[in-house]
Amino acid sequence: MASDPAIGVLALQGDYAAHARTLSACGVEVREVRKPVQLAELDGLVLPGGETTALLKIMENTGMEEALVAFHAGGGALFGTCAGMILLAGKVCSPAQRSLGLVDIDVERNAYGRQIDSFESVAEWLAPDLAGEDGETSLPLVFIRAPRLVRSGKDVQPLARCRGDVVLARQGRVLVASFHPEMSSDLRVHRFFLKLARQKNKGRLSPAGP
Ligand code: GLN
Repeated sequence: MASDPAIGVLALQGDYAAHARTLSACGVEVREVRKPVQLAELDGLVLPGGETTALLKIMENTGMEEALVAFHAGGGALFGTCAGMILLAGKVCSPAQRSLGLVDIDVERNAYGRQIDSFESVAEWLAPDLAGEDGETSLPLVFIRAPRLVRSGKDVQPLARCRGDVVLARQGRVLVASFHPEMSSDLRVHRFFLKLARQKNKGRLSPAGP
């Protein structure tokens, strides 16, 4: 039986299995997406962490990049974590590489330095939309060779901050995280994404409102 909303994970490279487990814990049946045709019928797609250089190579000449742009234009929700965020960004540096430009942000890859390139922290600020039902505000954050969000456009809504950086943000139905919410047992970020995906067939959103 199809679940509501219909959610896929881009299963070409990276930690898509961890996202699938987290989404299952949210009560959603997840489809693994490897071909553009599998995007039809989906309300939302997760782009997992991994290595963007490898991912871009795998997607070359498959039509997947164009299909993701079309999926977004058709109202589909997208959630990019770490490498997924890099892929969705408007501009990528360190080094520069192509990206889909579906969210108005600039990102710097591997920006947290060699010594501390992987670390755990908690959000020092969280948008009220993300606070737990019990009012819980601290969100666990796992960073793995993470990108830093170095610029965001006016339509981008910050949702969480850590060490002074925005680490979770949203523009319309696109959600991006520089950390890995699928690596903690906290389901709030994925649940927030499911809300965006449920909006797919409910008309256009203002950039700020869910
Ligand atoms: N460092 C990776 C990249 O630049 C992203 C790391 C991750 O997704 N955990 O593509």
